[in-house]
Amino acid sequence: MKKILITGGAGFLGSHLTRRLLDFGHEVTVMDNLFTGNKSNIYDFQDNPRFTFLLQDVTQPFWGQFDDIYNLACPASPIHYQRNPVETIKTSFLGMMNVLELALKTKARVLHTSTSEIYGDPMVHPQPETYWGNVNTIGIRSCYDEGKRAAESLCVDYRREYGVDARLVRIFNTYGPNMHPQDGRVISNFIMQALRNEDITLYGDGEQTRSFQYVDDLIDAFVALMDKDRTELEAACGKAGFDIPVINAGNPGEFTIKELAETILELIPESTGKLVYHPLPKDDPQRRKPDITLAKTLLGWEPKVPLKEGLVPAIEYFRTHL
Ligand code: NAD
Ligand code: UDP
Repeated sequence: MKKILITGGAGFLGSHLTRRLLDFGHEVTVMDNLFTGNKSNIYDFQDNPRFTFLLQDVTQPFWGQFDDIYNLACPASPIHYQRNPVETIKTSFLGMMNVLELALKTKARVLHTSTSEIYGDPMVHPQPETYWGNVNTIGIRSCYDEGKRAAESLCVDYRREYGVDARLVRIFNTYGPNMHPQDGRVISNFIMQALRNEDITLYGDGEQTRSFQYVDDLIDAFVALMDKDRTELEAACGKAGFDIPVINAGNPGEFTIKELAETILELIPESTGKLVYHPLPKDDPQRRKPDITLAKTLLGWEPKVPLKEGLVPAIEYFRTHL
């Protein structure tokens, strides 16, 4: 049994990770300030003696002895992270620093959740981990993108300078039950709109693409990367040209946003929702698709759930949150 800390554990991804780690028999502490998370996501665990919840902001220093730390604290939806951009970049940077300081003092292993957003509006397609990205440093998304890039940088420097065992996962758009129904991300928006018979709001011409990953596949990748032996992982990453273990985790299936809307309407045939077009938000990336060769080679991991299959439990979840 390991003692594990999950920052941001009351959010969408954190709640799934908590369930998985408790099922494995570990002791799990969730630290969250409930900015975008919700206690209902972790309600199922409250009577489990191996579960603890700490209401705490990661930007404030904290202490505890853990074997593993998963750093998830940060709002992920553009609407949420743009609502309070200074808090967003502080959470990314100071939260990461507090996690790494704790790991340094206690010799904990760290897995940090980075993002495909570090590639910005990519000029290379699909995006391998070797791509440096195309990010606007002063745009409306930069509080998130640059915060996440700085967090990666902190991880690699704590590793180089102090030997902290930090690992990075660059997550591509992920969906599933426990997503906040009002978080403004495309999958939650489209499903909620279709279920309420409202217009389906396509931004721009709907021809921009994304790759959508079902949450269970991502949790498999987290666990596989965290459990990998350090020496073996470092050797393999060194060979691949990286100073730190870093993988893309996403489903390489690429869909236009219009195709996504049509698929959701197909799965909710009773909906009377119609496609309508709204202006494209600033700095919205045109294309996104992960190259997952490295994750396949290092971990033998690849996603298993196709979009149409994963949307079914997601739709069922949102139906109960109308
Ligand atoms: P989420 O918003 O559901 O969860 C984030 C959690 O962090 C919430 O519970 C929130 O309350 C908590 N939090 C925010 N600021 C905090 C602070 N200062 N102190 C303590 N807790 C704080 O988002 P999610 O989709 O579960 O994302 C989890 C992580 O994965 C984030 O770091 C996000 O950037 C990353 N990520 C997610 C996706 C995705 O598609 N879901 C894609 C790329 C990266
Ligand atoms: N989008 C859309 N309608 C919506 C919400 C989002 O067309 O109601 C588009 C958005 O402009 C982007 C894509 O869907 O091109 C994915 O947006 P999301 O906010 O889910 O995540 P992103 O990948 O942009 O961070």
